[in-house]
Amino acid sequence: MKLLEDRILKDGHIGKGNVLKVDSFLNHQIDTAFIAELGKEFYRLYKDEKVTKILTIEASGIGIACLTAQYFNVPVVFAKKTPTINIYSDIYTSKVYSFTHKKDYDIYVSKQFINKDDRILIIDDFLAKGSALSALINLINDAGAQTVGAGIVIEKAFQDGGKIIRDMGIRVESLAMIKEMTEEDGIVFCS
Ligand code: 5GP
Repeated sequence: MKLLEDRILKDGHIGKGNVLKVDSFLNHQIDTAFIAELGKEFYRLYKDEKVTKILTIEASGIGIACLTAQYFNVPVVFAKKTPTINIYSDIYTSKVYSFTHKKDYDIYVSKQFINKDDRILIIDDFLAKGSALSALINLINDAGAQTVGAGIVIEKAFQDGGKIIRDMGIRVESLAMIKEMTEEDGIVFCS
C-alpha cells in the first residue's frame, strides 16, 4: 500500500536489532485518520469472509483493530498479557516469544469471548518471526473457531514469520512488506 510505504519512509526509524520504530503514527502516538485508511483496506481485502470478530494482542494492536472493526461492524477481542483470573476463571492461554523484548510471555482470552461459530480476522501491527500470530491462531483453534486470515500493517519479509503462517494455510495480507532494512541503506519494500 503506497500510502503506508510513503509514511514509513517519512516517519519510520530503524532501531537496534532490526526493530522498526513507527511511534509517531502507529505504536505510541496514533494517527487515527491514517490508521482508519488501513482499516478500510483490510475491509476491502476481507469483506467477503463473513468475519464475526477481530482478534488482536494488547497493546499496539488494539487501536488498529478498533479502527478496522468499524468497517466490519464486529467486536474486537484483545488477548491480554496479564491474567485477570479473578474475573474470568475460564480462559484460553498461549505462549508468545517477544522479538522486541527477547522473552516469553503468556496471553489470555476469556472463553466467553470466542466461540466455535466465530470467523475471526486477526489484526496486528507487525509480523516478524510469527510468534504472536501463531499464539493467536492457537487460541482460536482451542476455541474451535475459524481463522479467516490475518491483516498485518507491516511485515518484515526478511524474517520467516510470514512463510511459517502462510505454510499453515492461513491467508496473510500485509499492507507493507519490507524486503530489507539496515541502518546504513534504509528500507527496501518488496515489489
Ligand atoms: P513476531 O511474533 O512476529 O516475531 O513479532 C510480532 C510482534 O513483535 C508485533 O506484535 C510487534 O509488537 C513486535 N515487533 C516485531 N518486530 C517489530 C519491529 O520491527 N518494530 C516494532 N515496533 N515492533 C515489532
